[in-house]
Amino acid sequence: MRYVQIDTQSDPTANTHPTTEKQKDLSKLLARELRGMGITEVETDDYGYVYATIPANSPKKNIPVICFCSHIDTAPDCSGTHVKPIHHRYYDGKDIVLPDDATQVLSIRDSPYLKQHIGHGIITASGATLLGADDKSGVAVVMEAALFFMQNPAVPHGEIRILFTPDEEVGKGTAKVDMQKLGATFGYTLDGGSAGSLEDETFSADGAIITIEGVIVHPGYAKGKLVNALKVGGAVLDALPKNEWSPETTEGREGFVHPVAMNGIAEKAIIQFIVRDFSLAGLQSHHEKLKALAVSVVQQFPGAVMHYAVQEQYRNMKQVLDQHPQVVAYAEEAIQRTGLNVIKESIRGGTDGSRFSYIGMPCPNIFTGMQNIHSKLEWIGTRDMAKAAETIVHLSMIWEERGDAQLSNQGI
Ligand SMILES: [Zn+2]
Repeated sequence: MRYVQIDTQSDPTANTHPTTEKQKDLSKLLARELRGMGITEVETDDYGYVYATIPANSPKKNIPVICFCSHIDTAPDCSGTHVKPIHHRYYDGKDIVLPDDATQVLSIRDSPYLKQHIGHGIITASGATLLGADDKSGVAVVMEAALFFMQNPAVPHGEIRILFTPDEEVGKGTAKVDMQKLGATFGYTLDGGSAGSLEDETFSADGAIITIEGVIVHPGYAKGKLVNALKVGGAVLDALPKNEWSPETTEGREGFVHPVAMNGIAEKAIIQFIVRDFSLAGLQSHHEKLKALAVSVVQQFPGAVMHYAVQEQYRNMKQVLDQHPQVVAYAEEAIQRTGLNVIKESIRGGTDGSRFSYIGMPCPNIFTGMQNIHSKLEWIGTRDMAKAAETIVHLSMIWEERGDAQLSNQGI
């Protein structure tokens, strides 16, 4: 309730780190609260990151350092200014009309997951803004678990690192993270949906840039000579299949290509695509197919020239996690210990965890309960948040239980 009232919206157009200075308002508050719990090793930096350590209290020597991570920013898609959270302490199953905009109605019909929260507490915004449960619920859950460890020193665990990141929503959550300083072997983001869900797979993602050079001649004397790059570009877009191979026609494990921007002048047109698939082979075949399609279109415009460039964006974290199966296995066990069923999910997108997994910290994503994210109808069940905090506690204990044996097997 407190964290969501602090405006931390990130800005996709900014080139600064953090993209918005106001994110640090929450970083500073979190650092203060962590110190208030009695945690002495707490650090914030100029980029808005917060690093903190809960020292090991287990006598075992070789327990890997585990990081729990959440992002402090909220999505640019929807206002995050003057968020007024409402705690509905007892949700009775009826429609909830949000007070600041009567057109915003939360109902079981549109959000069936609400049904599981009848008789329990939920938190909504007031109708004018998003709630920011993405990912301040993750922040709250990590803070709650930290407080639990500080107040219950008899619960054994290894060294725990806490990390709060800025700018996840604009794809820069790991841009300025200091992995050396973080010093964690494995990590978990708390940035997922329904209770029990565990995400160990993300898209692999590339950008593709098709540049078309036309042939430019004075338009008064251009007959039979001029080739307009904008028209060639339009023809390339028109040649894309209408009923497949796009975000609007795919789901589940299907990949796609998606034009996101076209810029140009008659002489030169640039089309930017995003390309997505769960497998690298799939990604590769999307590139080949897109390039072949562009080549065949451009050939119909003699004189026009096409260039195809690939930009790697992020990779499916599963390729890394499969090399360290205990990371996901322990998370499944921890979720089960809270009494929940594990729901394994694939994310049709990327997370900070996909980037962390490739820069040295294998990092699946654990639920917090957040629903209808990036919208005015965002909500979360307080019981789910409590279960997420419980999951962190069990997970830390499992790493401690397996401590020495696990590591000698792994040769770490
Ligand atoms: Zn998030």
